[in-house]
Amino acid sequence: MIELDDRTRAIQRRAREWARELKPLALELDGDPDAIYRHLDVAIVSYLTRMPVPPRHNPDPVVIDGHRFYGTGTLERVVFAEEVAVGDAGMLLAAPGPVMSGVLVDSLGDERQKEWFYSRILQRPTWTFFALTEPARGSDAGAMETTLAPDGDGYVLNGRKRYIGNAARADIGVVFARTRPGPLGVTAVLAETSDPGFTAEPLETIGLRGLRITNVTLDRVRISAGNVLGQHLRPTQRGMWSAVQGLNRLRPGVAAFGLGIARSAYEYVRENRPGLPLRDRERLDDLGRRITGVRQLIWRAALAVDAARPSAGYEASAAKAKASRLAEDATMEALGFFGAGARLEHPLLDKLARDARAVEFMEGTGNIQKLNLFTGLLQGRLHRG
Ligand SMILES: Cc1cc2nc3c(=O)[nH]c(=O)nc-3n(C[C@H](O)[C@H](O)[C@H](O)COP(=O)(O)OP(=O)(O)OC[C@H]3O[C@@H](n4cnc5c(N)ncnc54)[C@H](O)[C@@H]3O)c2cc1C
Repeated sequence: MIELDDRTRAIQRRAREWARELKPLALELDGDPDAIYRHLDVAIVSYLTRMPVPPRHNPDPVVIDGHRFYGTGTLERVVFAEEVAVGDAGMLLAAPGPVMSGVLVDSLGDERQKEWFYSRILQRPTWTFFALTEPARGSDAGAMETTLAPDGDGYVLNGRKRYIGNAARADIGVVFARTRPGPLGVTAVLAETSDPGFTAEPLETIGLRGLRITNVTLDRVRISAGNVLGQHLRPTQRGMWSAVQGLNRLRPGVAAFGLGIARSAYEYVRENRPGLPLRDRERLDDLGRRITGVRQLIWRAALAVDAARPSAGYEASAAKAKASRLAEDATMEALGFFGAGARLEHPLLDKLARDARAVEFMEGTGNIQKLNLFTGLLQGRLHRG
């Protein structure tokens, strides 16, 4: 059993307190994703606006029980994300902040790019986006068609991206594009949504509506040479490799959203169906045990990522696959405890079930995680047990 240290327990306690404020807002944000603009002063939202910003760029970190938090450790992020997702995963994803592009800038940016990015983040609440998926290239993102072509002293971006979280609210973000065929021909660039040719159109969705996923069109968007990420790194450490590394770091966090959604559904049944018959109580207890098991798997993956173990990506895939499955099972099972009218009579449970479905697709579907996991097993980079 993995046990948390005092520091991580401090962020867990604080996140749990903060998350209580979210539950009453969850259905409001689900009904109107723009409600996020009314809730920027909610404690958890203002915490997220600055997470993660590494110590070198963050002179004023959040201090909890004497511990400084920068949001850069994976274990602290998953512990935090689970608690917040029990309150509302939608709000967690709707909040401004560096999120996914922050992880990319941290690993691929040079000092000047980091300074530019993090100073924008710390100036005021700033939404960011991370654009990898394309209309015909979801699971197979490595075969992307968006191009980055030289143009004068810089470049131009052309193409379309799909399902990009927060892009319609964002000021800045990271776009992946191709400079030539093959995996080494993929490059990540910093882009500004105010640039001519950048259009983000929100999509109507049913799950995790707070995230406001969008279609992005890139029509000759100019990118200065200084905004190309990873130029100081070896070609093998840029592009698609960096996307995979970034997703490996983020995947335990997405798993934690699934875990939080599952726990929220489980706790809802416990609070709203007292006096269950023995058989139903046993079913609920089984669910509780599954939640505990998946939590350990996620923590293990987070520790592997933090320790940069070679197995980290595979462990993150295992955690994500199990957690998104758990979220869907737990929410469907929870609805089952309330009979045929459950979705209408218990709108929060209905929302949790819709959110759980969306988690399945974030950062790769269950099938893609399983493919990754089996690759790790076959290549001997991951061992059973
Ligand atoms: C809520 C939400 C937020 C998102 N946010 C972002 C974001 O911010 N940025 C971003 O770039 N993308 C984002 N995405 C997109 C997400 O990464 C993709 O939805 C995901 O990668 C799957 O791609 P797809 O939807 O095109 O499905 P497809 O790739 O078309 O897959 C359809 C089905 O085929 C299966 N499948 C595909 N290939 C294989 C295979 N080789 N073997 C077995 N089965 C396979 C899949 O498992 C799935 O069941 C988001 C998606 C959602 C739902």
